[in-house]
Amino acid sequence: PYSGPSGNDIIAKRREYLSPSIFHAYKSPLNVVEGKRQYLFDENGRRYLDAFGGIATVCCGHCHPDVVAAIVEQTKKLQHSTVLYLNHAVTDFAEALASKLPGNLKVAFFTNSGTEANELAMLIARLYTGCNDIISIRNSYHGNASGTMGATAQSIWKFNVVQTGVHHAVNPDPYRGIFGSDGEKYARDVQDIINFGTFGNVAAFMSESIQGVGGIVELAPGYLSAAYESVKKAGGLCIADEVQAGFARTGSHFWGFEAHGVQPDIVTMAKGIGNGIPLGAVVTTPEIAKALTHRNYFNTFGGNPVCTAAGLAVLKVIEKEKLQENAFVVGSHLKERLNALKDKYEIIGDVRGKGFMLGVELVTDRELKTPAKEETLHVMEQLKDLGVLVGKGGYYGNVFRITPPLCFSKEDADFLVDAMDYTLSRI
Ligand code: PMP
Repeated sequence: PYSGPSGNDIIAKRREYLSPSIFHAYKSPLNVVEGKRQYLFDENGRRYLDAFGGIATVCCGHCHPDVVAAIVEQTKKLQHSTVLYLNHAVTDFAEALASKLPGNLKVAFFTNSGTEANELAMLIARLYTGCNDIISIRNSYHGNASGTMGATAQSIWKFNVVQTGVHHAVNPDPYRGIFGSDGEKYARDVQDIINFGTFGNVAAFMSESIQGVGGIVELAPGYLSAAYESVKKAGGLCIADEVQAGFARTGSHFWGFEAHGVQPDIVTMAKGIGNGIPLGAVVTTPEIAKALTHRNYFNTFGGNPVCTAAGLAVLKVIEKEKLQENAFVVGSHLKERLNALKDKYEIIGDVRGKGFMLGVELVTDRELKTPAKEETLHVMEQLKDLGVLVGKGGYYGNVFRITPPLCFSKEDADFLVDAMDYTLSRI
């Protein structure tokens, strides 16, 4: 049994010693003391089904024994920066990662986070093209350093940073967008930005393949290929931000962009890549990677042997346990059941996403699509009391984000939907 500080003690210390900017989920936040596969345990030994941790970090499940073993073994041997020296853990993982990417995307730069990966991708694109302008999509989230905060396009996640050279294209959002599911119409805005907002050439276009923080928004079909075409014609590179959608999460493909039939020039990743260990990566072609050789580029801990050993173990677990297939099969079942809930409850305005990256949007009026923000918070709290953890997102905070570890089972999916059904029936 747990004998450490209570949740209340931790809250008191957080108030005193941690930045006031940090926030927590739930009115009475969970003191999680242990994680195992798709479960989290609180200080009283109560078990919670974790239907959100997949996004936060955990791809193969909390504390997967193979990943833990890889981390422990490597930590015993060497934990160091390996920018200056050689170590096979780094190259082994880089090689394995390259084998998962299409085309000539085979050169990796390792970082400590998704923000760092996207900052670096933007830098590489600017160096490679000699252009400055970067186009991202409204409602996107790409990070919280100055460049990526500029590319991020939701005011709730932005401070007053100088957004030099960033343009935000109309969001191809099939539910709330002005052109419904017509991807090509939305993509005309990318061409318009190039024509009327730049000198005709751009450095890059950067996009998630399913918007995560923005509330699990799938890009309208046909959008990405049309946008890529405009950007490539303008000499720009296409950056796929796979920080959330990558690593088998969407089920049908290993990378989210693959479902759109596009070939990016740069792919960025983080979160699930290390199953909870700080790791991110930028993968590109050998030719584009050369852009970074004109000056010294250095990242002390990016891709250190402990993190890359974890990364390699994650890839092996995804394969060994057929987690992509599980995301597809169980994710499809879960989506089907959520759609059935939508037929039952007026408050569910939309169910969307793929695999284990699903969203349920609550509205108080289906016609007007009025965000049901309070109700979303209420249901989330009630679900917690029933032992189920889901996330919340979207600009209006009215979308459940269901992004479990990839080992989530059909029984887990049914339990989640039954709990949601019960909660909604009493709202
Ligand atoms: N890109 C996407 C799509 C993300 O969801 C996030 C994090 N929410 C990031 C980048 C930034 O990653 P990190 O928090 O590791 O810096």
